Amino acid sequence: MNYKAFHKLSYGLYIIASEFEGTRSGYIGNTAFQVTSSPPQIAISCHKNNDTHGIILKSGVFSLSVLKKEASTSLIGEFGFMASSEMDKFAKVKTEVHSTGAPVVLDSSLAWFDCRVVQTLDVGSHTLFVGEVAESQLLSDDEPLTYEYYREKYKMLAPRNAPTYIEKDKLTEEPSAKPSAPQPDQTGMASADPDDEEEYICAICGYVYRPDDGDLAAGIPPGTPFSELPEDYRCPICNAGKDYFKPMG
Ligand code: FE
Repeated sequence: MNYKAFHKLSYGLYIIASEFEGTRSGYIGNTAFQVTSSPPQIAISCHKNNDTHGIILKSGVFSLSVLKKEASTSLIGEFGFMASSEMDKFAKVKTEVHSTGAPVVLDSSLAWFDCRVVQTLDVGSHTLFVGEVAESQLLSDDEPLTYEYYREKYKMLAPRNAPTYIEKDKLTEEPSAKPSAPQPDQTGMASADPDDEEEYICAICGYVYRPDDGDLAAGIPPGTPFSELPEDYRCPICNAGKDYFKPMG
């Protein structure tokens, strides 16, 4: 099996949210698709370990917000990589409630669907929820965020709970042109410390800090080793501090 073939399937990225007896839960999913047009039905695939899974099972409703191409990274980090049971993901985002009672996230969203679950299918690690659309709204004609764009932009793998998760070692990487080892300069001393080129991965979300690229959004110029990042540097995806980063090894 060639797991890279799975990356040729196209997806968007969505916030899926629900609420039961005052408990709100939401996550970012890429597996959402329209099943029928009459009546309009949308299906999502939700991991059973996901907090939102239990809430949808109990409430029988969910909302789906379509993220825009330049969605907020902190929103992606919090909804995509944090657990709803550990933080209030809705504290900082604007939401509305419509006919089903599910919270609808408006931040970074282009359109939303408010759905009532009409069928569930146990597919092993995940449940496929089919929802009939009770209400929908278009918020903007901007471009939607595609999963491919997201993967390329952040050089990230899918979170472990995503239906499209593939273990890293199954994605046979082509050998990449490694920068050549530092050459001794005229004085016989090495001109660069190999540790300065070491890549660090965020243990929370999988973002990789590459010294060659720096982190321009955070004002970190290319060529900055991880060790020289400011102590208050935070992961641009999930906002985790430096302590959460480990050498790629
Ligand atoms: Fe992170």
